[in-house]
Amino acid sequence: MRKSRRKRHSSWLNFIVTTVFAIVSLLLVFTIMTKSLDRVDKSKTTHTAVIDTIESSYPGIKIVTETSNDENAPYAVQYPQSEYIDFNHRVIDYIQSAKTDYFQSLDKGSGELNISFETFHHPSGYYSFIFFKNHYVRGEHSGIVVDSFHLNPKTGDSIDIATLLNQNEAHLLTLSTYIKEAIASDPNLEGHLINENVELATEPLWDNFRNFALTEEGLSFYFNQSDIASSAKGTPVIKLAISKVSPLLAKEYQATVPPVVQQEVNNLLDKPINSLEKKPDVSVSKGETAQLPSEKASKHVKKVALTFDDGPDPNITPQILKTLKKYDAKATFFMLGSRVEYYPDLARRVLLEGHEIGNHTWTHSNLTKANKEKINNEVAKTAGIIEGVTGAKATVFRPPYGAINEHVRSHIDLPIILWDVDTLDWKYRSSSHLLEAVKKHTKDGSIILMHDIHQATANGLDAVLAHLQEEGYIFVTVSELGTSH
Ligand code: ZN
Repeated sequence: MRKSRRKRHSSWLNFIVTTVFAIVSLLLVFTIMTKSLDRVDKSKTTHTAVIDTIESSYPGIKIVTETSNDENAPYAVQYPQSEYIDFNHRVIDYIQSAKTDYFQSLDKGSGELNISFETFHHPSGYYSFIFFKNHYVRGEHSGIVVDSFHLNPKTGDSIDIATLLNQNEAHLLTLSTYIKEAIASDPNLEGHLINENVELATEPLWDNFRNFALTEEGLSFYFNQSDIASSAKGTPVIKLAISKVSPLLAKEYQATVPPVVQQEVNNLLDKPINSLEKKPDVSVSKGETAQLPSEKASKHVKKVALTFDDGPDPNITPQILKTLKKYDAKATFFMLGSRVEYYPDLARRVLLEGHEIGNHTWTHSNLTKANKEKINNEVAKTAGIIEGVTGAKATVFRPPYGAINEHVRSHIDLPIILWDVDTLDWKYRSSSHLLEAVKKHTKDGSIILMHDIHQATANGLDAVLAHLQEEGYIFVTVSELGTSH
């Protein structure tokens, strides 16, 4: 009896334990299943998120905000949408792929994803949207990553940096130079630059400058966190003034620019243009080269020809002219036709101050890789603009990169001028290096290569001239050097 009661009691207990165990197991399996289902689900759709769309203060632009407060996979992303399906898809694809990356990396634990953006509206109507992606997974922060999207709200077209610069490789080269200089001289980045990264990030490759914003004031370039400077500096923004970059841009993006630039050039000239046009008191006129002042010609003195390539530049060239004037130095400026077209007053001023102007092609192209038609076009168009704006013909020619062969030679009917002292000013951007290079290599009759587009060159020129003058040199144009030898 006692035994059987005990037995009954024990089987009753067994039943309860088994049932509870079964229920708990089922619950566990169910919980695990829903959890994993939930995770699979999240990487594909956003149904756990709250999506909100509002009109923005920018014409034609809506702002979409998606937020998820899921404690294991929280995220907040924000992006623009327009009336153009193509643009919208590009943006949504970017957002989707950022979310997919994020959810996949969550296997390592919990994290957070934030994407925000800034809007820039150019007077032409163009929008630049700069995205900042902040992706964090349990202790691993990948740094803030920048991306940009661009929209012409009249056509729905996108623009990229190559379109903006009219696919012009010479302009790309100039742009990379400007950006590198701006990075080096940015007081905010001083002491934080990672120099080898800066070299890579400013190589003249379209992809290096893909993240930009076009504004009324200029072009801003964005770099990822830790790309050029220590992470403490966040995502560095390098701004170039519109007066500086405008000549590099395709015509349609310059639309609102010329009056501003013209005014700046006039200011730099220190004088009204009319007074400059009046009296050339130097003996340079059509087709002729300047004559040496008689007292210089009669003495037996060492001569050197300073040459400045790739300008004129509204900031650098006037500074160089001022220094040349201080030392009564004459120099030769090998100008790009595309820049003479944009800064005709500077070209005139160079000539009026007694310097020589040389032809350096229109787009700075390597002529040894060009056919006859392209060579003629590059050279003739530049000759035309130089004569058109200054009234005098270019008297000498220098091939970009010094690249020359018999084929190119046969199409050029001007003296072809290379150099024997290469200061490498474009590479070092250092006033002290400029002086060292000149000290080391200059001899009587030298032709020194510099560029009037680099701030360090303009800054270092005074010391270079002081040194050469001390050494007994006088400064003549390359044509004067040629005729006196
Ligand atoms: Zn050049």
